[in-house]
Amino acid sequence: MKNILDFDYEGLQKYLTENYQIEKYRTDQICDWIYKKRIFNFDNMTNLSKEIRKILNENMLILLPNIVQKQISKIDGTTKYLFELPDGNLIESVLIYYPSRTIACISTQVGCPLKCAFCSTGKSGFVRNLSVGEIVGQLLAIEKDNNIDINNLVYMGMGEPLLNFENVIQSVNIFNDPKMKKLGARHITISTAGIPHKIEELANLNKEIRLSVSLHATTNSQRDKIMPINHAYPIEEVIQSCRIYQHKTNKRVTFEYILIKGFNDSPEDALRLVDIFKDMKVMVNLIPINANPSGFEKPSKRFIDQFLDVLLKKGIDAVVRAEKGSDISAACGQLRLRKLKDIS
Ligand code: SAH
Repeated sequence: MKNILDFDYEGLQKYLTENYQIEKYRTDQICDWIYKKRIFNFDNMTNLSKEIRKILNENMLILLPNIVQKQISKIDGTTKYLFELPDGNLIESVLIYYPSRTIACISTQVGCPLKCAFCSTGKSGFVRNLSVGEIVGQLLAIEKDNNIDINNLVYMGMGEPLLNFENVIQSVNIFNDPKMKKLGARHITISTAGIPHKIEELANLNKEIRLSVSLHATTNSQRDKIMPINHAYPIEEVIQSCRIYQHKTNKRVTFEYILIKGFNDSPEDALRLVDIFKDMKVMVNLIPINANPSGFEKPSKRFIDQFLDVLLKKGIDAVVRAEKGSDISAACGQLRLRKLKDIS
């Protein structure tokens, strides 16, 4: 049995015509049911002949992940999902509401190999990459559960998207395709801890995907302490690849900067950050650290404001990211970690 969510449009059309002699236009109809009408059962695809429905039922599945647990923030409606995959592995996704848009934050790996000190996901190790269908299925499952159309997508859940490059890009193609989810690439953000050659590969695809880079520190010795991947790809190399990305795509890169009390929150840090971004068009998201496994603390409001002020005065676009779902520990990896602890 094949998961139909693993296929992009051309791939599905080819598969259905070559294997089952299903006419090409049928692919449009099937995609319309799945991606536009949120119908995940072949029997309910009423414009398909009985014969085609039978072929599909016998050979294909529309595999959405199972909702194991769901937490809804009483403050802002942010909804956090713990999903179970067919092999029993658990992943998390989050639905975030803003006045004019809905954002799904989805995972790309079970666990994560990067082991950033502040992040819950890495604590349980790395298990495997998600398949294309497992990436796509998260968004569809959230849409189905809420009966909504999601119009923004961030690859900011569990895992490092650029270490599952092919499947991530294939899922972007599916989300992007006007015959499938029809989500503009400009509404899709890939967040990475910074893998320079993969950032360049992404730039070469010439899509309008937004790139967000988790920087979190301003010197290599500081970044080494919280992001082990920095030993392999130090700040200069990450920034150089971001310059290439910006040059090739003409898009400004967003940088995520977690603020950690007494570690990376001084005005000197802010000035070093300004220096790192010289000659670049960037957007900086400052994120006071969320509850985390290593006990790092948020800076006081005065330090946060002061840091922001230095950036703004030096002409860097920056915001302090509003915390969403603070009552449901929406920082990724936490729900799964708790569940794994319950089980063990
Ligand atoms: N591996 C990718 C995407 C997953 S992490 C990346 O590194 O970007 C998504 C974002 O959540 C990253 O910016 C990450 O640094 C941030 N994050 C992880 N743990 C956090 C915490 N405790 N508080 C605030 N942000 C956190």
